[in-house]
Amino acid sequence: MQCPRCDKVMTPVRPDEVEAQQCPQCEGHWLEGEDLRRLESTVNVRLFEWRKLPSEELQTRELACPRCEPRQVMKKVRSERDQHVLLDVCERCHGVWLDGGELRAIQEMGFVAALTDAVRFITQD
Ligand SMILES: [Zn+2]
Ligand SMILES: [Zn+2]
Repeated sequence: MQCPRCDKVMTPVRPDEVEAQQCPQCEGHWLEGEDLRRLESTVNVRLFEWRKLPSEELQTRELACPRCEPRQVMKKVRSERDQHVLLDVCERCHGVWLDGGELRAIQEMGFVAALTDAVRFITQD
């Protein structure tokens, strides 16, 4: 799978029992399905490397889902708790893209709370 931002091939990383795909260049993460839900109950996220949040301009750029064919543009979901965090959510496969710094911002504000925002969004139909 390729990074929706840089087109680099992502590699699997495993913080605890959760498997995520990580981009070697921008350090963003792709999470989907059960792994996303499992991450909610995971306290230990220290294996992730932190970076600064991407610029607002970069964050608001449209991204296509790395999973779906044909091309599916992901929906931007702003966290209710931290206005700096903008998640990209695929409405088709329910995957979530987190930019490198977003995971850090999310952890600092309460990782579970932030992902609950995302999960609530993708499960409301
Ligand atoms: Zn990337
Ligand atoms: Zn998708």
